[in-house]
Amino acid sequence: MEDCIFCKIVAKEIPSDIVLENSEFLAFHDINPKAPVHILIIPKSHYDSFQDIPPVVMANMTPFVQEVATKLGVAKSGYRLITNIGKNGGQEVGHIHFHLLGGAKLKWGHFSDSNPQGNL
Ligand code: 5GP
Ligand code: ZN
Repeated sequence: MEDCIFCKIVAKEIPSDIVLENSEFLAFHDINPKAPVHILIIPKSHYDSFQDIPPVVMANMTPFVQEVATKLGVAKSGYRLITNIGKNGGQEVGHIHFHLLGGAKLKWGHFSDSNPQGNL
């Protein structure tokens, strides 16, 4: 998709530090890591978010994610897989991507302030 930064990464028009690649998926290091291991996993085809992705793509992605985790050495120690969806989900790049975070014990907490109702 034109003007999509992750489509440009898929096309190698923008460089990235690739971890694993096959015909359907690409895994690369996040440019601004929030954990010792922070990988972005994307389908090469453009879908705006999880809300748009066909189930078969999700199914095919499963072994790819597992292989990335093994390759990065976090399959046994554990990791977190996140996809942010839309404005309230905090999605900044409009090409679906899964954050694979690991390499340390991760904290849990999502609201933008201490209000348990969130900050919607
Ligand atoms: P989001 O907030 O949309 O869930 O996450 C977008 C992620 O993409 C962020 O963690 C950000 O650091 C990462 N990112 C944005 N632009 C680039 C880029 O050009 N290269 C790489 N490797 N990561 C990027
Ligand atoms: Zn795209």
